[in-house]
Amino acid sequence: MERTLSIIKPDAVGKNHIGDIIQRFEKNGLKVISAKMMHLSKSQAEKFYEVHKARPFFKDLVSFMTTGPVFVMVLEGNNAVQVNRDLMGATDPSKAEKGTIRADFAKTIDENAVHGSDSLENAKKEIEFFFSGNEICERTR
Ligand code: ADP
Ligand code: MG
Repeated sequence: MERTLSIIKPDAVGKNHIGDIIQRFEKNGLKVISAKMMHLSKSQAEKFYEVHKARPFFKDLVSFMTTGPVFVMVLEGNNAVQVNRDLMGATDPSKAEKGTIRADFAKTIDENAVHGSDSLENAKKEIEFFFSGNEICERTR
């Protein structure tokens, strides 16, 4: 069993796709074990995307991620990190496989609907960035 971090980005929240996206996770064996809606500050977005700070798109990414609220979740399931990445599709929605979240709910590489942790190690760090242990609700049934 793995845990991963998912963020529904401001574009998809703005288009009212929160439910559509969570449905993809639930239909594919991932369980939401924590969730919150928040409007990231510039410094939160900069810190979260720190690994990309040397990239040319960093400033635009931080600016986009603070344009509106995001919906942040911890997902749990077998192979959760990879299952989530597969459901998301490629970073560039025009290259994402048909039926993936990004192919269906996003149009451009900069506003691409969702974030998902890319490794178990980063998942742990990203979950800790947004959630304290007592905010995570183990599924007891
Ligand atoms: P992913 O979100 O698929 O893990 P990356 O970690 O490489 O992709 O990039 C983080 C985010 O930065 C992307 O989801 C996207 O919002 C943005 N991004 C990545 N590459 C570009 C690019 N070439 N131009 C604009 N924005 C980009
Ligand atoms: Mg990434």
